[in-house]
Amino acid sequence: MSSKVAIVTGSNKGVGFGIVRGLCKKFDGDVYLTARNQQRGEAAVELLKKEGLSPKFHVLDIDNEETIMKIRDFLKEKYGGLDLLVNNAGIAYKGNATEPFGEQAEVTCKTNVYSTIRACEILFPILKPKARVVHLSSLVCLMSFSKSKPNIQSSFRNAKTIDDVKKLISDFVEAAKSGNHLEKGWPNTAYGVSKMGVSAITHIQQKEFDKDGRHIIVNSCCPGYVDTDMTSHKGVKTIDEGAQTPLWLSLMDENSQVYPRGEFCQEMRISKW
Ligand code: NDP
Repeated sequence: MSSKVAIVTGSNKGVGFGIVRGLCKKFDGDVYLTARNQQRGEAAVELLKKEGLSPKFHVLDIDNEETIMKIRDFLKEKYGGLDLLVNNAGIAYKGNATEPFGEQAEVTCKTNVYSTIRACEILFPILKPKARVVHLSSLVCLMSFSKSKPNIQSSFRNAKTIDDVKKLISDFVEAAKSGNHLEKGWPNTAYGVSKMGVSAITHIQQKEFDKDGRHIIVNSCCPGYVDTDMTSHKGVKTIDEGAQTPLWLSLMDENSQVYPRGEFCQEMRISKW
């Protein structure tokens, strides 16, 4: 029988790198550090090898569908499928970015929402029974949700399909480009709305898994405020501390009484939104 296999998107640095390090120590199978840039990915693998760990490497750019299909075919051929998918890759503009808000909204939502959804669409068919999926969302999604007007909040609560979520996000991007997103009830944060999208798909995906008999569990989580390039190193947690909740969701015993399903979690607990 093929051994188990895990992949972590965008793991050449930051929280994803911390997750790979933790999985190399605790996951019972092969762990793939993946990166959109081969050199950066291989350099990161070398760092972990110097620590005595044995991650493997594969290129994966979630904005590039061809690379998602290549890793899908590779995993199917070598392992017969996939046991753990950690969707960690994400982007955020800095607070002082000068690009117009509409552009920031479009670019951020493309990677954080649409490409994450596309990666799921391509990789979910090869998930093995009892596989786990973990999405990196953010506490900012809860803050952004509470700053949204009731019309937006109820649209997110009522979203029943992934297409509903895609439509909401495209409405946001359109409004951001037209400069009337605030009037329409959206919060003033492209990153926050993108992570609202990530948390919203989680709930819907779990319902879909519940129908397909593979006993797959998907959750989203916030790693906390982590010292990475994304936070300009202002975060207070180390990447290993930031990896704790994603690792908890990735490795939790299926018989655990509190196993979250389709939830948003932080500090190893479910947070309702
Ligand atoms: P970093 O910016 O440090 O790292 C992001 C990683 O994602 C990099 O490896 C980057 O690759 C990769 N990436 C970006 N776009 C793509 C893509 N299209 N395909 C593949 N990989 C890509 O961020 P963090 O480690 O801080 O964040 C990791 C995740 O955690 C993100 O989803 C973030 O939103 C979330 N998060 C982080 C928090 C924090 O405090 N740090 C708080 C809450 C959530 P490259 O090196 O090539 O750019």
